[in-house]
Amino acid sequence: MGTGFEFKCKNCNYKLSVNLGIGFRYPYLCNSILDEMKSGKMGKDFQEKANNIKNPAVYVPRDLYLCENCGDLRPELTIALCSPINDPKESDAPFSSVYECLEFDTYVMSYMLGTEYKKELVNEYHCKKCKTKMKKLTSYKKLKCPQCQNLLSYSKYFWD
Ligand SMILES: [Zn+2]
Ligand SMILES: [Zn+2]
Repeated sequence: MGTGFEFKCKNCNYKLSVNLGIGFRYPYLCNSILDEMKSGKMGKDFQEKANNIKNPAVYVPRDLYLCENCGDLRPELTIALCSPINDPKESDAPFSSVYECLEFDTYVMSYMLGTEYKKELVNEYHCKKCKTKMKKLTSYKKLKCPQCQNLLSYSKYFWD
């Protein structure tokens, strides 16, 4: 269900393989992350929000992060706490008894963002080498080798 990239530097043999996107254990992953948020394992901000949002859900894709200061690259899970945009309990009062019986999913797929769910809080990553806040990449073209600054070449593959 995701796209993988293999980055290679022809100059110094640097190699990085990353599976981006969402894996088949996604619903389980989201559920356990939401539990961690609620119990405070992810810090106070996530704990407060996760416990205050009605029917919270999480969006957890795997992304590639870049340190713009030292050029380090690192794949990480982006963890976003989301809230439903239209709460059926509130918008359709006559059907509320029906909706109250429904279990709400705790995971958000990318196509649901903006229509069914909105992001409330997103985690951040800092570079392990220089502590700078890392940037989430949306394009993987023209990446430079963290070791020698040579342009990285990449090939794509699919995984599930
Ligand atoms: Zn290199
Ligand atoms: Zn850095």
